Amino acid sequence: MTSTETEALGVLRRVFGYDSFRGEQEAIVEHVIGGGDALVLMPTGGGKSLCYQIPSLVRPGVGVVISPLIALMQDQVDALRALGVRAGFLNSTQDHQQRREVEQAFLAGELDLLYLAPERLRLESTAELLGRGKVALFAIDEAHCVSQWGHDFRPDYLALSELHERWPDIPRIALTATATKATHAEIATRLNLTEARHFVASFDRPNIQYRIVPKNSPQKQLLELLRTEHAGDSGIVYCLSRASVEKTADFLVQNGIPALPYHAGLDSRTRAANQARFLREDGLVVVATIAFGMGIDKPDVRFVAHLDLPKSVEGYYQETGRAGRDGLPSTAWLAYGLQDVVQQRKMIDTSEGDAAHRRRLSTHLDAMLALCETVECRRVQLLNYFGQSGEPCGNCDTCLAPPESWDGTVAAQKLLSTVYRLQHERRQKFGAGQIIDILLGKRTPKVTQHRHDELTVFGVGAELGEGEWRGVIRQLLAQGLLAVEGDYGTLVLTEASGEVLGRKREVRLRREVKRERAPREAKP
Ligand code: ADP
Ligand code: ZN
Repeated sequence: MTSTETEALGVLRRVFGYDSFRGEQEAIVEHVIGGGDALVLMPTGGGKSLCYQIPSLVRPGVGVVISPLIALMQDQVDALRALGVRAGFLNSTQDHQQRREVEQAFLAGELDLLYLAPERLRLESTAELLGRGKVALFAIDEAHCVSQWGHDFRPDYLALSELHERWPDIPRIALTATATKATHAEIATRLNLTEARHFVASFDRPNIQYRIVPKNSPQKQLLELLRTEHAGDSGIVYCLSRASVEKTADFLVQNGIPALPYHAGLDSRTRAANQARFLREDGLVVVATIAFGMGIDKPDVRFVAHLDLPKSVEGYYQETGRAGRDGLPSTAWLAYGLQDVVQQRKMIDTSEGDAAHRRRLSTHLDAMLALCETVECRRVQLLNYFGQSGEPCGNCDTCLAPPESWDGTVAAQKLLSTVYRLQHERRQKFGAGQIIDILLGKRTPKVTQHRHDELTVFGVGAELGEGEWRGVIRQLLAQGLLAVEGDYGTLVLTEASGEVLGRKREVRLRREVKRERAPREAKP
């Protein structure tokens, strides 16, 4: 062992109270202590912080940590101080006097770690300050924020590429939990980290059980999950809109489950209070938009539930990754339905940005849909998405209760020809509800009013129920064999639909699983 190794291990034991490094931590710490640049890709909970905290303590000077998590800086600094580490932060929440004290401590060499909000780096005064003190390293936390295509883009992060020009000899370590190969490469280029050594940890989170179920009545399904499997547990429930966050939190409270809302529409004091309660108390459920959770370090989150479809696999992985940081069994549960696809396609169609941007959003959504509709192991699919491989895990819903697939070609033809007839014979477009009524042969007022009972396809789909038809539509949308457009989610054909209608293409569909609970006891 070299002396730096011993020193790092000594700090790990003495200061942080841990016996040994985890995974790649030691190699990373050593590399940075030796002055090398590093790009660290490690899942949430993997232990990224020590990768820059220990080198900051070992190298002479102050470790400067750039983090977008301003709301958490105080907590992070308090936690470090409790361990005897001299830490401070500079961000917009402080007044002039508070900032001056931190600056003076920095210049006097009385700090080990200095947390900086990214916008402060744009100020010439910050660069001057850093130039007058001694910097041990730069750590760039949540480095994916530099990616313009990612979901957390922060323009201030682009300025971080200049660190290297100004301080070419100071090592830099960029860390993220979110990165496909493409984002990874983008981080390296944008941060000017071309010489950096890459450390890529496994993205597998074996203690998380992934489950994706068809959405029928989401609140009731959620309640069932919490009552039967997670009574008294802490957890996070993600919803897409503020309104559904409020409604769901109310619903849970009415049903005896202690729940708090969290979204950007609440005033900052309520948000901070709810977050603090969640961190401190046991058995609280936070119902939130994705505004909640970045940097949340609560080890015993037993479940993360999504009541709406995440926009990307990266988002899904990061949000579900907040479960089970302590390594104990935890659940990632997502309820997903036809309406999710309709709604998200609509959001993409109406989103700002150019065609390339919309295509990207669309690719993200397609990958998420593919994960939802897979008949294979969810974990293997997730790992593949991040460029890693794995074996079927035995601990996800598709492993525990393998979904049957069926030949849906005829059903798809019936459905697509209904859309075709409306579109081409009647010059009409309708949403899923009306199409299904026609297929089932229901003479609703809307059906008779439009004389849809006179169509040759009227009633040809009676062999399936309404729920099953919705499943067929959802899967056809996911497979690109059908599309939605406009504000009302009207269904239209795609080019690929023609192949099915022309009998040139078979359609395999996943049978909707009636039983929702994956039996835990079946775990090997
Ligand atoms: P990340 O930033 O990657 O999400 P953290 O750095 O917050 O993860 O670490 C997650 C948890 O794991 C923390 O509670 C941390 O104290 C703990 N941890 C990290 N490294 C070790 C280690 N070598 N031994 C024991 N616990 C560790
Ligand atoms: Zn599996």
